[in-house]
Amino acid sequence: MALIKATGLGVSFGETLVLNDVDMTISAGEIVTIVGPNGSGKSTLLRCLVGAMTPDRGRVDRAPDLKIGYVPQKLMIDPTLPLTVGRFLNLPRKTDRKTAQAALDQAGAGALWDRPMSGLSGGQFQRILLARALLERPNLLVLDEPTQGLDQPGSAAFYRLIEEVRTETGCAVLMVSHELHVVMSTSDRVICLNGHVCCHGTPEVVANSSEYRALFGTGTAGALALYRHEHSHSHDHTCGHDHAREKESA
Ligand code: ADP
Ligand code: MG
Repeated sequence: MALIKATGLGVSFGETLVLNDVDMTISAGEIVTIVGPNGSGKSTLLRCLVGAMTPDRGRVDRAPDLKIGYVPQKLMIDPTLPLTVGRFLNLPRKTDRKTAQAALDQAGAGALWDRPMSGLSGGQFQRILLARALLERPNLLVLDEPTQGLDQPGSAAFYRLIEEVRTETGCAVLMVSHELHVVMSTSDRVICLNGHVCCHGTPEVVANSSEYRALFGTGTAGALALYRHEHSHSHDHTCGHDHAREKESA
């Protein structure tokens, strides 16, 4: 049985249809990555899945034993706040030192307990957020662009860590990423989102699909094209968009 299953999800903000008729499932233990241009509804989809917002249409079914560890895209911490890593892990709920230290170790940040949050590097900060998400022993980790702002070796190391965590704990992972070539090697499945699910499947299937190529181009340069691509078709969100035209242009 799936851990989480979304059917026909739709979300509008005012006049703008941000998600239209999105179906997806996540099964125990798999790593699923969502890719898509800026503003394509990735964070909105994650928020619907974790229950941080209610979709306007469709439904989300969750397994009775589903336990989510969620790392949102942006987490601002006041740099003037004298907050150590150890204290941060006790927010919002007090956790015993042993459990917190185990989560830190698992996130590859075991030595950072006494360090001030404000002095951490980007990669260290992400590991602390990961540790906090691991505290409650989730069976689904949800990470929204966890490597944003990290350099390439930094994000490659972070993805390796995610794979290790999956192997150790058996938890499923759903993440959003822009680093397509790195993500490709660590994901069991990729979902390409642009308001609707453009294509999905194994990394190989997605990388070779015309829809994916239309969005990202081919090769590693495609990761850059993400930020400046234009559609060859209009996204009128009636789900009648013309994939044949994408094939022509791909
Ligand atoms: P992504 O994560 O793929 O970059 P988002 O899901 O954050 O995309 O946003 C999708 C679209 O919805 C964007 O155009 C964004 O401006 C809009 N949007 C997101 N959240 C809100 C909100 N709370 N109110 C109004 N518009 C929103
Ligand atoms: Mg986002």
